[in-house]
Amino acid sequence: MAYDVSIVECRHYREQEVEHALREAIEKVDGFSVIRPGMRVALKVNLVRGQKPEVASTVHPEVVCALVRLIKERGALPIIGDSPGGIFSAPYVKAVYDITGMRRAEAFGGLLNDDYSVIQVHAPCAVKAKDFPCTGWLKNADVIIDVCKLKTHGMMGMSNAVKNFFGVIPGTSKPEFHYRFPKADDFADMLVDLYEYFSPVLCVCDAVIGMEGNGPTMGDPREIGCVLASSNGHAMDLVCADLIGMKPDGIPTLRSAIGRRLVSGNLSELKLYGHVDDFRVRDFRTVTAQSNVFFHILGDGVIGRTADFFAGRIFTPFPKLDADECVGCGKCASVCPAKVIAMKNGKPKIDRNRCIHCFCCQEFCPKGAMKVGKGLLLRLLG
Ligand code: SF4
Ligand code: SF4
Repeated sequence: MAYDVSIVECRHYREQEVEHALREAIEKVDGFSVIRPGMRVALKVNLVRGQKPEVASTVHPEVVCALVRLIKERGALPIIGDSPGGIFSAPYVKAVYDITGMRRAEAFGGLLNDDYSVIQVHAPCAVKAKDFPCTGWLKNADVIIDVCKLKTHGMMGMSNAVKNFFGVIPGTSKPEFHYRFPKADDFADMLVDLYEYFSPVLCVCDAVIGMEGNGPTMGDPREIGCVLASSNGHAMDLVCADLIGMKPDGIPTLRSAIGRRLVSGNLSELKLYGHVDDFRVRDFRTVTAQSNVFFHILGDGVIGRTADFFAGRIFTPFPKLDADECVGCGKCASVCPAKVIAMKNGKPKIDRNRCIHCFCCQEFCPKGAMKVGKGLLLRLLG
């Protein structure tokens, strides 16, 4: 019997331990059956930024190396790639491969993607992203495997299987997407569109050490102690949300997937191999996703818009500067898609009335000085 999602203990990034756990996890969801000799297998790895493996913002190289060995065993060719935030070009991405430890995979026969082409895609079945630019290398693969990392995320609450597909958008186009889809639910619909368009045959999650707090790049590493596999990224996200104590309705991509009936919102309806209870981290430091508690019921007139304005202030998290940690580099101002950050006296000043709450400034701040501030109501509730 193939399970919907498997969860297997893996406490350390030791070569044999990781390979053993991944083999078991993938076998239990029948994930190897889709890989045939001679296939080009794209490993869409979360390499959000050039950070060392111990930072825990990217998939650990031991996980990628183990996957490469397992795919090579089946006579297929694993190709590793991603489009991190920044220019999708050889010098930039190769530096990310070096820093994140991906080069190690070459020793086991893995190829690091060196196709930096960008293509235009038309997706007629999409809800939001019917036309978008994407990295060409994925289109040349026979199958795609989604290799994600379990992390908190300022805008989306959680980054895992579905959020990983934002990496198909070339780095410099990402801010434009935040601007096109400023509301969390629209952005999440777009992410679900991307995931569904590419339809990875298998999702593998590195939850040996996840990231809590100020994720997805500047949080703190946190041991979770497992790896997961599934052929359905939405189902995997549902399980992972539970692992870190988040509810599906607090994660916009899961709300979208459940609304489209891509997964049931009820964990008990999934066939699970392994026990979530063995790995759940009860005090995992989560972040609240951008809220969409708007009072559209009051209409689009002055009353409705006024109510929306106050609801946004009360419920919605916002970027918040820790001036002591800020070194005044201006990176946040340069990545802000809404252009609402001005550098004043060497520190960023945000026009909150025009902020679209995308948290690019938080994601790309090299010092972790930009935090996720809680809306008024959440502050009052502690
Ligand atoms: S990116 Fe971070 S360190 Fe640089 S100016 Fe902005 S908040 Fe300060
Ligand atoms: S200030 Fe930060 S959160 Fe607001 S729009 Fe700019 S990058 Fe996004």
